[in-house]
Amino acid sequence: MKCRVCGKPANINLRSYKTALCEEDFIAFLEKRVSATIGKYRLIDEADRPIVAVSGGKDSLSLWYMMNKLGYVSDGIYIDLGIEGYSERSLEKVRQMADTLRRRVYVFHVRNALQKGIDGVARVIRRPTCSACGTIKRYIMNRVCIDKGYTVLATGHNLDDEASALFGNVLYWKREYLWKKNVVLEGRGEHLVKKIKPFFLCSEREIAAYAIMKGIDYIYEECPYSEGAKTLVYKEMLNRIEESSPGTKIMFVKGYLKMLKEKGDEKEDGRESRYCLRCGYPTFSDKCSFCWLLDKFGTEYDVEFDQYN
Ligand code: SF4
Ligand code: ZN
Repeated sequence: MKCRVCGKPANINLRSYKTALCEEDFIAFLEKRVSATIGKYRLIDEADRPIVAVSGGKDSLSLWYMMNKLGYVSDGIYIDLGIEGYSERSLEKVRQMADTLRRRVYVFHVRNALQKGIDGVARVIRRPTCSACGTIKRYIMNRVCIDKGYTVLATGHNLDDEASALFGNVLYWKREYLWKKNVVLEGRGEHLVKKIKPFFLCSEREIAAYAIMKGIDYIYEECPYSEGAKTLVYKEMLNRIEESSPGTKIMFVKGYLKMLKEKGDEKEDGRESRYCLRCGYPTFSDKCSFCWLLDKFGTEYDVEFDQYN
């Protein structure tokens, strides 16, 4: 198999694009796609100060690396969930990348805040671990932007994440979540920062290939709490469909974006309409779920970040 661009031996076969590329041309191809996504959906303005949510995995570290390479100079935010062994190893990968990029990374330690790791926190509030994790992550990622003056929060969600989430929402007709997925979610003044997903149209396989070709050292193991997650089952099913009909995933997600655009103003908003009286975060009641969580722990704790670099 030869590279469609230069004729040298190809390193990757992209069946959904009916093409094969060598390492050099694949890197250029993927970076061009991300640049085009950033431009088309107006993800980052010149005056913006972006920050990338990094977990130590291939998607977020590749995104952090690529954004800086493309000229979108950005720092990072890492949330240490206090999962023995796994969290330390992930943080190590994040620090390495921070050194490579010579950028700053903020670190929030769940254990410093609540004296427990994420599983212990979930037990106290009687919620599934991933649900407690989601509450903390959403809050802290927004908070670092508000406190430290970042205007855009970028996350490494890829095409497979979006396709599987969409698949799950359609399967159970979760109307309340169905129209909330997008490449960009606008912010709300000093309360909520704008969120962007530059890898929305890049597959997991493409990002893994990019990370390997670029020598990005990421953590291979998955979070131990992801085991048995429904999204992994959906991903597997979508991969099987993709195998027999290449291009299905991208068509599924692009078709959704097209419908979302057509829906425009007509779509239900369903967003929180009030602000937390304590911290200002959007909420449906007087208190946001993070402040509620702090109350459950009886702590007056105020959010603090460690800073690396
Ligand atoms: Fe958080 Fe791990 Fe669950 Fe993901 S799998 S939401 S990182 S606890
Ligand atoms: Zn609050």
